[in-house]
Amino acid sequence: MRVRFWGVRGSVPTPGPSTVRYGGNTVCLEVRLADGTLIVLDAGTGLRELGKSIEAEHYTNPIHLFITHAHWDHILGLPFFGPVYKKETRIVMHPTTERGISRTRNPIMFDTAHFPVAFGDLPATIERVENLGIHRIGSASVRHIELNHPGGATGYRIDDADGTSIVYLTDNELSGPGPTPGSMPGSTIEELATFSERATLLVHDAQYTNADMPAKRGWGHSVVDEVLELAKLASVETIALHHHDPDRDDDALDAIGESAAAWVKTNAPSLASVVAAEGLVLDLKQH
Ligand SMILES: [Zn+2]
Ligand SMILES: [Zn+2]
Repeated sequence: MRVRFWGVRGSVPTPGPSTVRYGGNTVCLEVRLADGTLIVLDAGTGLRELGKSIEAEHYTNPIHLFITHAHWDHILGLPFFGPVYKKETRIVMHPTTERGISRTRNPIMFDTAHFPVAFGDLPATIERVENLGIHRIGSASVRHIELNHPGGATGYRIDDADGTSIVYLTDNELSGPGPTPGSMPGSTIEELATFSERATLLVHDAQYTNADMPAKRGWGHSVVDEVLELAKLASVETIALHHHDPDRDDDALDAIGESAAAWVKTNAPSLASVVAAEGLVLDLKQH
């Protein structure tokens, strides 16, 4: 399995000289399965560049799309995804919850109030596989889990036939309150660790540091140290810190990478940590 990060920023795009190394596009990942099937995780502004890459490659097989939730930073790339304007393109949307089914049946981005083109006028063939269970795609199976985020969000685990796996958990607050006052978190840390167990790669929202707390408690994002604890608990091989705060510049992300590496060295020497950056490619290997 090969994973490429096309957008790693949370909340809002952050162009400018202070974010060029890690990138300013909002979240979007390309996953290529062992059999070449393409799965896209989230459709933030990074999706625009992914679209150009797919077109340059003359990729004609179905594009499978999983979206964690409908906050802007996860869907804003959709109208600027070049392949939707080509009639030979086939996109398969995979809602895995009742919430996702309702949002993909009525995509707000193409209601003509938010963008001029209506959903029904898009040239591409867009299908929906409405399945609340396991989605089998190409050489892989995709499972999902409820995350802890205002309005709800869905996490995914892709297990490929070659034995490699990616777990994608964003936006998710690991030790916060539930998504509405008095509610329970979407999933407990133990449930998330079981879901992520022995994954080749865990990609997790790590928007905040301890210095951001308690001011950002309840905002639906995690603190870096909590994410590292989860990665250790789940015995994953590599943790990629993702969904960076829009106010975190390149130097601040370097500092997060250094402190994460120090934490890992002391607490979980077999774990590899990486700060997700636009353009980062990870070739997952079975061990
Ligand atoms: Zn987000
Ligand atoms: Zn969100």
